[in-house]
Amino acid sequence: MTRIPCPSESWDDYVIQQERANFPKASELLDKLDAYGHLTWFIGFNDTDSEEPVCECSTPDIAQNAVPTCKLCKLVEYRGDWLASFDVISHVNDDDDELYFAYHVVINSDSSNFITTSEQRVVHYSKAPFNLPDQYAIVAMEEYPWSVEEVESALKTNDHWNNHLQAIIDAYQLSR
Ligand SMILES: [Zn+2]
Repeated sequence: MTRIPCPSESWDDYVIQQERANFPKASELLDKLDAYGHLTWFIGFNDTDSEEPVCECSTPDIAQNAVPTCKLCKLVEYRGDWLASFDVISHVNDDDDELYFAYHVVINSDSSNFITTSEQRVVHYSKAPFNLPDQYAIVAMEEYPWSVEEVESALKTNDHWNNHLQAIIDAYQLSR
């Protein structure tokens, strides 16, 4: 699996080292995450095996309408593929009996030939990463328009993600 380092990684490494100092198990927890392997929560688009016709011109002339369309072939712009996947695990720390979440986000694009971990953190449950899929979707939608189905699917993923986090928090609070 190819992996192109991204500039934010050195910062992530720094953050992880800080977290490890406070929380010795952080790296162990992060090692268990595998968003792209599990694909439990993911958002994005994929024009590479789309059944809808898309522009295949070698030098497309794209009109930047609401739906960017090629002026030559009148078909919608080819976006390639882009997938953001999310994974999270919870952990109650022995020392303070507090609930923590370890989570990461993996971005990949076969058409652009990259896969990268864009974010990885261990956080106290008071800072649980609610709406994380939404945040990534909003940024990605600024680059390319998404279809109604892609947006609906992303919203659903965000709901499932939030519900999952909330259920863990509820169970933890009930158990105390
Ligand atoms: Zn075209």
